[in-house]
Amino acid sequence: MWAFNPSIPPIKREMPSRYRLEGFECHDCGFRSLPPRQVCPRCGSRNVSRVRLPRRGRVLQHAVVHSAPRGYEFYTPYVLALIELEDGTRIFSQLTDVDPEEVTQGMEVEAVLRKVRVGGHGGPVAYGLKFRPVLER
Ligand SMILES: [Zn+2]
Repeated sequence: MWAFNPSIPPIKREMPSRYRLEGFECHDCGFRSLPPRQVCPRCGSRNVSRVRLPRRGRVLQHAVVHSAPRGYEFYTPYVLALIELEDGTRIFSQLTDVDPEEVTQGMEVEAVLRKVRVGGHGGPVAYGLKFRPVLER
């Protein structure tokens, strides 16, 4: 478990790229991450391109979130996880279809499309990427 800061703003802006798992790869240092960027945050290179990341990975760390940012309250408590994808890329994502008590380090997960935000009083619903435990293998 690590300390989760609930004041981190929602990632709504990044949703289109997150849904496609579209990140970037730096051709100088090899760093891959979400969302796509023009400049590598690790080495400062502009020699980057967009890359589609693998849809499977495993949980490295996780935290159960009880106080969510505005718009996410509906889902509390939920599980936020640091996931290492099959190519080694590490991303943060919410887990779904799992009891928070059952999340373990090293658990295999796969990307699925889920509701990510519900506005109040019948407001907008957005869809985006979450990860769930791999059911069959
Ligand atoms: Zn780089």
